[in-house]
Amino acid sequence: MARYVLKFGGSSLADPKKLYAAARKLAALRREGHEVIGVLSAQGGETDALLAKARQIDPDCGGRELDALLATGEQVSVCLCAMALRRLNVPAVSLSGRQAGIRTEDRFNDARVLWLDNDRIERELQKGSVVLVTGFQGVNGDGDVTTLGRGGSDTTAVALAAFLHADHCKIYTDVDGVYSADPRKDPDAVKYSRISYDDMLTLARSGAKVLHDRCVELAKQYQVPIEVLSASGDVPGTLVGA
Ligand code: ADP
Ligand code: ASP
Ligand code: MG
Repeated sequence: MARYVLKFGGSSLADPKKLYAAARKLAALRREGHEVIGVLSAQGGETDALLAKARQIDPDCGGRELDALLATGEQVSVCLCAMALRRLNVPAVSLSGRQAGIRTEDRFNDARVLWLDNDRIERELQKGSVVLVTGFQGVNGDGDVTTLGRGGSDTTAVALAAFLHADHCKIYTDVDGVYSADPRKDPDAVKYSRISYDDMLTLARSGAKVLHDRCVELAKQYQVPIEVLSASGDVPGTLVGA
């Protein structure tokens, strides 16, 4: 038995068919007897839609209320996925960042994860449930919802993998790995089968949003190997590691 963290990005959850595809991947590992934690982003476009809604009310919005609003996108994803898993006869529970025990710094929009109170997740894993955690968010010392910056669900996945001592951390996305440049813009981009934390950090900091830069920093700090792979295909992805 191994412990897996699987993260699915927004485009990989954008419609019911894709959501079920993600649920099937989680279910397959659970049926093999593994402990499975899913970290989900908001469905594709949802975070931008929430942001646009907020800006119609206040073009300068930010801080506490904006974070509480943006965090709802991920809440929708985990609830829908838990429903899908139950339809597949696999027990599952959805948890918000707060319920999952993700504690962050006391700042909004761009908070760092500080630690995890892992009791709840451990209890749910012991019951045999697939645990679905909202990406991109936690709570501060006052119990208010904070977000981790755009693209921050990757960081949630690595933080959970680190604090829960997972054996595997897989980041499912809409490309089949990490390339030398954005493969959607550069036809000459080549795919890496492996890449070091430092080289990945350079790519992420120069704007390659395939991985959130904080997620790579955290992975390096806690020596969490990451596999980046396509949610829709079966080809091997890219290993990010030491
Ligand atoms: P997700 O919703 O799964 O988090 P993102 O949109 O955040 O996905 O990141 C995946 C996107 O990152 C790809 O669709 C791709 O266009 C882009 N990207 C930019 N640079 C790279 C790179 N060097 N390698 C792979 N993908 C890249
Ligand atoms: N939903 C958030 C965003 O769009 C976080 C994420 O997808 O990683 O930035
Ligand atoms: Mg992303």
